[in-house]
Amino acid sequence: MTPLEALLIRRIAATGPITVADYMAECLLHPEHGYYTTRQPFGTAGDFTTAPEITQMFGELLGLCLAQTWLDQGSPAAFTLAELGPGRGTLMADALRATRAVPGFHAAAQVTLIEASPALRQTQAATLGPHEAIWLDDISDLPQAPLFLIANEFFDALPIRQFTRDRDGWREHMVGLTDGSLSFGLSDAAQLGLLTHRLADTNPGDIVEVCPAAPGIIEAIAQRIGAHCGAALVIDYGNWGSNGDTLQALRAHAFTPPLATPGEADLTAHVDFAALARAAAPCAVGRADQRTLLTRLGLHARATRLAQNLQGAALESHLAATHRLTDPTEMGTLFKALTLYPLGHNAPPGFD
Ligand code: SAH
Repeated sequence: MTPLEALLIRRIAATGPITVADYMAECLLHPEHGYYTTRQPFGTAGDFTTAPEITQMFGELLGLCLAQTWLDQGSPAAFTLAELGPGRGTLMADALRATRAVPGFHAAAQVTLIEASPALRQTQAATLGPHEAIWLDDISDLPQAPLFLIANEFFDALPIRQFTRDRDGWREHMVGLTDGSLSFGLSDAAQLGLLTHRLADTNPGDIVEVCPAAPGIIEAIAQRIGAHCGAALVIDYGNWGSNGDTLQALRAHAFTPPLATPGEADLTAHVDFAALARAAAPCAVGRADQRTLLTRLGLHARATRLAQNLQGAALESHLAATHRLTDPTEMGTLFKALTLYPLGHNAPPGFD
């Protein structure tokens, strides 16, 4: 039994079942036993690998996309260059290296990282080296200034609530106890205002997921971009809308039951991009799947250029990385990108 499992069992025995969102929040960010607070989850030695850890090209192309958008919006003199959930800091480091030659871009940028984990903040500082960055706890702490922001595999880590449609209401998925062990159960059916809009496109028995924190985060980003200009690039796995149970736990690159090892596996859910877009009101939004976005941003030209200096195993792994990011059987279409940008401006390059 993990230490967090013992704590959760005691809590549920005392005060009753908790929502899936409460369970996820404890597992991921418990101050002592949370997954992100206690470990370095990335890479072959960790539990999962993200696009910036697969190839430098990912951060380079997204950095150049933001820099081009900054130029297109008249090169605002002082702006926030932000990343939400920067992991090891690899994406930001690649983006900064790729944009070194964009005149004035670095001088005007205040690199700002929003990160909950103290351990990962240290890793990010080491990765960024001489670049001066500041760290924020919360998106609402972002200054009122032009905002150019990237979030890769951030929203999938936010806690979700799950509901099964009943004939005349919704039953929430809860984590309770069966014979003293954690188990899933359903609450009594209730009418829920937050799911009224899903009555038309679901049937009894269908499962829908809601990420309560996501709209507020998007609203904070959209407010700054709407008022001061900028752009946001949100990349993650997910769909347009939510249908079905997508809660998953990953440990040492293998799926494991979500209740099996609380605090010791990564817990995520697919992102509902339609819900993010609905919260982006003061901004225009654009969409593309990862394959389309990276291809339009010049992935293949960049890959060819890098391949010229590689041979043997390094070349093989470089070619495999390009394939992994774009192939429809790998990350190419499961991963989607959403952009927010000011009304009346062009979308960032790569988006419709
Ligand atoms: N973007 C990185 C890492 C993705 S993992 C990459 O592509 O490699 C998710 C990241 O979000 C981690 O850095 C994690 O510590 C951070 N995180 C998770 N929940 C958070 C929250 N509520 N607030 C801030 N950061 C959070």
